[in-house]
Amino acid sequence: MENDKRTRNTQQRGAIADAIRESSGPLTVQEIHEAAQESVANIGIATIYRNVKLLLEAGEIQPVILADGVTRYERAGLKHHHHFRCRGCERVFDLDVCPISIPDGSTLPGGFQVDDHEVTLYGLCPQCNESSA
Ligand SMILES: [Zn+2]
Ligand SMILES: [Zn+2]
Repeated sequence: MENDKRTRNTQQRGAIADAIRESSGPLTVQEIHEAAQESVANIGIATIYRNVKLLLEAGEIQPVILADGVTRYERAGLKHHHHFRCRGCERVFDLDVCPISIPDGSTLPGGFQVDDHEVTLYGLCPQCNESSA
């Protein structure tokens, strides 16, 4: 009995970690819930919250907070990337292209030395673009 419970916990945690790892962008708790349900039926939202907290504490995932104020989560340690938020479906996607042409280490007029930047792009994702055409 105890063993079954442990197996189920491991399965649930694995499904949640996979959902975040395999996503094409950061996910809300709701989106993690939907994705995890595909591999573990009847997984509850409280289980998602609990495991997201554990994954955060373990440093495996990190929060992403954009201007919409919604907290999403992505795998920790991803290489430099930017986010694209779709105005249609409100999903957020990772972009590989960097639209900033100011290299890190540049000094701007006034003496501001740049060592990082954040950019979020907005528009329609391919799916929403197609359905609005
Ligand atoms: Zn969309
Ligand atoms: Zn960049």
